[in-house]
Amino acid sequence: MREIDDPLLADRMHDLEDLSNRLLRIVSGQLGTAATAGLRRDAILIAKNLGPAELLEYDRRRLKGVILEEGSLTAHVVIVARAMGVPVLGRARGIRGVVREGDEILLDADAGTATIRPSQSVATAFDTRFAKTQERQATYAKLRDVEPFTRCGTRIQVMMNAGLREDISNLNLVGADGIGLFRTEFQFLVSATLPQRERQLRLYRDVMDAAGGRPVIFRTVDIGGDKAVPYLNSEESQNDENPAMGWRALRLALERGGLLKAQARALIEAASGRQLYVMFPMVSEPWEFDAAKAVFEEQLGFIKKQKKQPPEAIHYGAMLEVPALAEVLDLLIPKLSFLSVGTNDLTQFLFAADRANPKLAERYDWLSPAILRFLRRISQATVGQPVELGVCGEMGGRQLEALALLGLGFRRLSITPVSVGPIKELVRQVDLAEISEAMTGWLSNPPDDMRQTMLVWAKDRGIIID
Ligand code: PEP
Ligand code: MG
Repeated sequence: MREIDDPLLADRMHDLEDLSNRLLRIVSGQLGTAATAGLRRDAILIAKNLGPAELLEYDRRRLKGVILEEGSLTAHVVIVARAMGVPVLGRARGIRGVVREGDEILLDADAGTATIRPSQSVATAFDTRFAKTQERQATYAKLRDVEPFTRCGTRIQVMMNAGLREDISNLNLVGADGIGLFRTEFQFLVSATLPQRERQLRLYRDVMDAAGGRPVIFRTVDIGGDKAVPYLNSEESQNDENPAMGWRALRLALERGGLLKAQARALIEAASGRQLYVMFPMVSEPWEFDAAKAVFEEQLGFIKKQKKQPPEAIHYGAMLEVPALAEVLDLLIPKLSFLSVGTNDLTQFLFAADRANPKLAERYDWLSPAILRFLRRISQATVGQPVELGVCGEMGGRQLEALALLGLGFRRLSITPVSVGPIKELVRQVDLAEISEAMTGWLSNPPDDMRQTMLVWAKDRGIIID
């Protein structure tokens, strides 16, 4: 496979390597030990590439950073690293050839730099910068209990993304309004076998308990693409030449009815007596939403027949990640209680640019007119409709992009926990009428450099962008 010219096919080699590494560990009785045995304190992990499942096996107390020769901003392994609170630097080509075990490395993932075997003066300068970052983080921590109102008095919902039991403590730590995206497939990714219904139920119940009364939006399994699980591999998915556009997410779940049924039962039972929020990934046509909802409604009927206490209410939502869905929003919206735009996948499909391909990582900007106009269209389709609109992709966690989203009419952002503070701070400085008027102008006559134009605009108004 290494000799195949087609980069897409050659890339599948990583999946095989990931799986074979895991398999070797399982058969040698050392499940998870490659990740934990020998990992020193303050370790920086360096690899050509990693699967998200493999990364999750590392001890997050010891792991202080990840450097990948490949890996782009929205690759799942990078999202997982960020969720673990571990700084990650991607596209560090050739680094494995220059670093030796035990070397000291200064990693600044924000600046996109790694300094190997630093001199004393470089290390001192790094320490000063690091102290400044920590100071900034301390100011964000002060916003924990502050509700994010804009300058003009609109309450913006700042929620966080999560996927593991351990993530939930972040909810109080950063002061988010709830969990706007709970990636249920993470439990599947870290499991050597398919998690049984009871195990799923326990996790969902724990998460809801920990969230208190705050909403948790559970996304049903989004497996496939760069989130391969060995025990669900079937001929269909192995034959996918283009897994991101293949048999994944809701497509897989609707066909593997047993999987979705078990998950529906687990969620409904876990939500006994309380509100349940369910979101379906990769909805491409409205019938897929109907079919998935029907699975839940059937399980609800079953629970009622058994005289178990059902949830107080089930709120159903869809992710908009497939551009085609935007054409039929008028048909879908009346069925929904919320709609959440997954900008990670949406961007890859809009630009036909694989989100995991490091060569394309920075080619297309979230602030490009194509994306912003597309998002505006979605936002306009929901005006006056009883549906809550949000964004749950990585885009919402960056201050300038979040500013654009506010200007486009989005009032709910679900983001990686470390971004909650910076985004709250941004929200408090914004006047919505001002940014939406500016956005209208920019979108009818796009400036050459949107990013720079927005930065100058913000600076002129005293809005601080980190
Ligand atoms: C997205 O696609 O934007 C998203 C939030 O889901 P994921 O990153 O898990 O695909
Ligand atoms: Mg997605």
